[in-house]
Amino acid sequence: MKKKNKLIFFMILFGTVFSLGFYARSIEITEIFNDLKNEAEEVIEEDENTVEDNPPSENPSDNELVNNKSNEENNQNENTKDEPNNPEDEDTEEEQDNYSEELAEHIEEHEESLEKDPEGEKIVTNVLDKLVLVNKEFNLPSDFTPPDLVEPNIPFIVDEGERRYMREEAARSLEDLFSCAEKEQIGIIGVSGYRSYETQRRIFNNYVEQNGEEEANKFSARPGQSEHQTGLAMDVSSASVDFGLRQSFGETKEGQWLIENAPDFGFIIRYPEGKEHITGYIYEPWHLRYVGEEHAQKISEKGVTLEQYLEQH
Ligand SMILES: [Zn+2]
Repeated sequence: MKKKNKLIFFMILFGTVFSLGFYARSIEITEIFNDLKNEAEEVIEEDENTVEDNPPSENPSDNELVNNKSNEENNQNENTKDEPNNPEDEDTEEEQDNYSEELAEHIEEHEESLEKDPEGEKIVTNVLDKLVLVNKEFNLPSDFTPPDLVEPNIPFIVDEGERRYMREEAARSLEDLFSCAEKEQIGIIGVSGYRSYETQRRIFNNYVEQNGEEEANKFSARPGQSEHQTGLAMDVSSASVDFGLRQSFGETKEGQWLIENAPDFGFIIRYPEGKEHITGYIYEPWHLRYVGEEHAQKISEKGVTLEQYLEQH
């Protein structure tokens, strides 16, 4: 029985040691496994961290891509902007050209309208026409100066000044008129011929200061509305009216002679008696207007004003 007990004891002991050893080994294996597992988890975590880290690291690339795309888009946008811009620029240039042209046209029209309508009046364009109509409706340009002003060889009441001048054709005809009058012992004298816009402006303003504009406008021309600026008009007088510009001059033999003979030299009595409502001016028997012999004779024969003649012409 002792050997059996010893055997059993050793068997139990062996079994215990084996079990303990197995247990210990299993623990060791478990620890190793756990270590491996931990390592594996750390690796995984590191991988995961790497993966987690990667997106930020990729993000820049994406951002770069995005940025690139953005840049491309921007570039495209810029290109898109540029492309439309270029045409727009071209359009803009064209539009600017058109605008410049339109602006220039507007400016011209505006300037023309200013010239045409400075104070609700019209500006004549046929300034060098012998039949140019200048009155309270039709104005001469303020900068118009006849290009062929000459001094006719006739007696004047003044020794010098612009009033001694007329346009050349009118001046020569006036010389002929005065020569004829002298031959027929008609004593007439030149008082006032050409008058510049500025002179007329000064004269009219002086009258306005003295009499008021409404009154001044009845007997004095506004600047630009005086026939004297055309270089085709000449006021004449005689000793019989003290060399003045008076309506009584029309009743003198000198005045009567002019009414009858002036048309043969191309001159008309521009502001006849009884035509004030047409000419806008009172009777001025002293105011001669050159229109040329043919027209002057017709106007005289018909007994009409220049306004009426031009309407019929
Ligand atoms: Zn006059």
